[in-house]
Amino acid sequence: MKRKDFIKQTMLGGTAALILPPFLTGCSKDDPTNSITTDKKIIVIGGGIAGLSAAKKFKDRGIQITLLESQSKIGGRLRTNNSLGFAFDEGASWIHGPNGNPITSLASSAGANTFLTDDNSLNVFDSNGAPYANTILDSNYNAYKSSLNTVRTNGNINQSFQTVFNNQFPNKINDRLWKYMLSAYLEFDTGADISDLSSNQFDDDDNFSGADVIITNGYDKVAQYLAQGINILLNEKVSAIDYSGAKVTVTTSTTTYQADYVLVTVPLGVLKNNIINFTPALPNDKLQAISKLKMSSVNKFLLTFPSIFWDNTLQYIGYTPETKGKFNYFMNMNKFVQQNALMTFAFGNYSALTETLSDAQVTTEIMSHLKSIYGNSIPNPTSFLRTKWGVNPHTFGSYSFATTGTTTTDFDTLSNSVNSKLFFGGEHTNRQYRGTVHGAYLSGQREADKIISLL
Ligand SMILES: Cc1cc2nc3c(=O)[nH]c(=O)nc-3n(C[C@H](O)[C@H](O)[C@H](O)COP(=O)(O)OP(=O)(O)OC[C@H]3O[C@@H](n4cnc5c(N)ncnc54)[C@H](O)[C@@H]3O)c2cc1C
Repeated sequence: MKRKDFIKQTMLGGTAALILPPFLTGCSKDDPTNSITTDKKIIVIGGGIAGLSAAKKFKDRGIQITLLESQSKIGGRLRTNNSLGFAFDEGASWIHGPNGNPITSLASSAGANTFLTDDNSLNVFDSNGAPYANTILDSNYNAYKSSLNTVRTNGNINQSFQTVFNNQFPNKINDRLWKYMLSAYLEFDTGADISDLSSNQFDDDDNFSGADVIITNGYDKVAQYLAQGINILLNEKVSAIDYSGAKVTVTTSTTTYQADYVLVTVPLGVLKNNIINFTPALPNDKLQAISKLKMSSVNKFLLTFPSIFWDNTLQYIGYTPETKGKFNYFMNMNKFVQQNALMTFAFGNYSALTETLSDAQVTTEIMSHLKSIYGNSIPNPTSFLRTKWGVNPHTFGSYSFATTGTTTTDFDTLSNSVNSKLFFGGEHTNRQYRGTVHGAYLSGQREADKIISLL
């Protein structure tokens, strides 16, 4: 997987070091060994990694909090489906850049097993089933990476990646191999269809270093580990937050709660769909950032087979169909979970379209790609699992991205607290590491520290 594999200077350089904001330093309250006694009530909304990260930090400081989660289980986009007897992660799978990444040690403490993935363990096939020669793949990949710099340099806030790319490389946009790279690499990384992606802000975020590892026994282990000992109320969907009085009133489907500080970690998609009614309305700059930034569409599809018919030495199989974003990248799950299974993806506009297709329609399309590579006699799948992140009412999309008309500061605006009572976390509030598990986790740490500094 090429997520975050861009030519760019990261702010952190090769090794990761967290630069703590001033409010986290120089204060005895910020000595993490100090327990804090307070009568202030704190509510965390959302039991994804951001909310759980904050909740664990409060717990470690001896502070009682209540966490409200709309679903019947915690984890949010750390969602593992074990219905087939092995872990199919419907949301996050990888720890991107494990060196210095806080999720690395967390996953280890949580008992999550990891496997080093190798993006070069890949064959790419044309739509007629013929494999691309490695020399062709290498030269085009180098040209693709350089094209990202060209688009960034020539881009501007109002033009999409696709518009600038078309201007600069008019012969490439209809080249199937280029459509594959722009989709399986760039659209996967950013989540966005390139027609909707900002041309100059598409990769202004940062990475931790090191080759990606995948969690093989379920990412939800990390959520469960963080959740230990925390007062979590499930099936509590928050519909209103009134912060006009001295206390903040939080209304759910069942009751109301009062708190001094409320940390909101629901996804950007939930904020965009006005699932929570804020009184008074949120500040204009925050409303604008919510409206402008978008949620992406990435979906996953898992097929199991009675036997393996693909090259089982490979981790990945690429395919270059006419339609961009359409089942063009397959993971050989045998490498990771020792099953006769392939997982494929849909990205961008095609991903959104899949959510309107039946299981049978999707399976037929996926099988047609596999048949063109491996022949018509390959076995039919024995089971099929899929995601529909766009219509998931707890998320409304996969992860946040910078679209046309947005600036980097919009992500920062989403993280601004309001009246020192309302705080905001979640992957979409972390400009530097947006769209990732570690970005969400760090946002929870950041917001917990902000609240702790007020106690
Ligand atoms: C298909 C896919 C693949 C991904 N792959 C990777 C990957 O490999 N590596 C990586 O680092 N990242 C990946 N990500 C991104 C990563 O999963 C997210 O960035 C991260 O998990 C977000 O965490 P969060 O806490 O911000 O939000 P969430 O996990 O979405 O948590 C928010 C919580 O709020 C709850 N909620 C929503 N509405 C309400 C309400 N009204 N009241 C109360 N609770 C509410 C939700 O149910 C949810 O539990 C992927 C995401 C997807 C969808």
